[in-house]
Amino acid sequence: MIANRSAVLYRDLRSVPPTIVRGQGVYLFDADGRAYLDGSASASVVGIGHGRTEIWDALAAAGDRVTFVYNSTFTHPWQEQLATGIMGLAPRNMASVYFTSGGSEANESAWKLARQYFVETGRAQKYKAIARWRGYHGVTLAALSLSGRTDWRRLYSPMLLPVTHIASPDAYRCALCAGGACTSACADELERAILDEGPETVAMFIAEPVSGTSAPGVAPPREYFTRVREICDKYDVLFVADEVLCGYGRCGAPFAIADWGVEPDMITLGKAIASGYAPLAGLVVSEKISKGLAQGTGRFVHGLTYSGNPTSCFIGLKVLEIMQREGLFTRAAEIGSYLKTGLVRLAEHHHMIAQVRGRGLLYGLELASDRHTRTPFDASLNVSRRVVEGMRERGVVIAQGLAGSGDQIQISPPFTISEAEIDEVLLALDATISALEDGVHAPRPG
Ligand code: PMP
Repeated sequence: MIANRSAVLYRDLRSVPPTIVRGQGVYLFDADGRAYLDGSASASVVGIGHGRTEIWDALAAAGDRVTFVYNSTFTHPWQEQLATGIMGLAPRNMASVYFTSGGSEANESAWKLARQYFVETGRAQKYKAIARWRGYHGVTLAALSLSGRTDWRRLYSPMLLPVTHIASPDAYRCALCAGGACTSACADELERAILDEGPETVAMFIAEPVSGTSAPGVAPPREYFTRVREICDKYDVLFVADEVLCGYGRCGAPFAIADWGVEPDMITLGKAIASGYAPLAGLVVSEKISKGLAQGTGRFVHGLTYSGNPTSCFIGLKVLEIMQREGLFTRAAEIGSYLKTGLVRLAEHHHMIAQVRGRGLLYGLELASDRHTRTPFDASLNVSRRVVEGMRERGVVIAQGLAGSGDQIQISPPFTISEAEIDEVLLALDATISALEDGVHAPRPG
């Protein structure tokens, strides 16, 4: 029997989450009038903040220009304008955008396009993808096959496509450099994986420049993506940067990979691109790939009903306008340093904070029983879940990182957050961790 009385199939079938009836800035308000500071930007989506009614006013004023057109029959000015706008921000080697409704679709489209590109350019044996453990690329079957999130893969493992996963570039857990200085050995693993698979069969490598919820805030050193690019070039493998979460302003730039000075062959976007005001994501495609297809059959054998749907593109355009008008593509870099300073200061007082990592407004905290030996808490203590719940009780929403490999939490508020609002998050975190600390530390031996 289903215990809750809702007609909605929730992730948790035993409880109904609070009903949110209104949003304003970084705050959400539930049906009982309770306010929540949205310190996770609702799954790192709402870059411009909640309650931007100018978007709805503009949509209403557009009248009968708001109409659905099917992408393979017609285009619409809003799709064209949004693609042009995104191209204006994208790395120089990029040529076009394929719009989707969500990030999983964008990544799945990238894999299919990689395959088609190699068929069209005379290398039909190339189809395999290489990805990373603790990478996250979505939940549809092909996207989940790319994802290295073991807790979400396990149940569906008989149904997944074979994908080779290499180590995550996570200095905290690095087994490759044996505690010494980083050698980017995890990037060299890519070369080994390509050689093991046979370079003539490998089509693409996909990675998040800055990791999201499976390894919140993990950002490799500069050499890492330089090395990835070299390896991909050497073996004719496409490099796909998944920026569904870390892109579009989240890390303080339109495209996070810019920090590494590397040009990927494709970049996937999502989340902040429409800031949750519409379902919208996309795949940014390089000139090389577009040309390969154009000079071949000239047709991408793929099609999603809602690709480039005008309403989502209109909202994407309004979000882009707001982001540019208010300097939100770079604001995360400025205000993020305030958040980082506060988190580092908290770590000085709370020994269970073993690492603060991330950039822009995407931070991950590693929580450990002993931060010197990096000994995790016993999983049965559910430390990260209790931190998230404690924060919620104090009116602040944050996210729990991947469980099962230690405890991690993620803080990724809207790009509009103020210093005073960051202080609210920090105060709640200080109080939550203080309340937990005594209960979770095992008594010292002797
Ligand atoms: N890639 C990354 C990096 C993500 O964070 C997510 C969503 N959390 C996805 C892909 C999948 O996007 P969606 O849930 O919109 O399908």
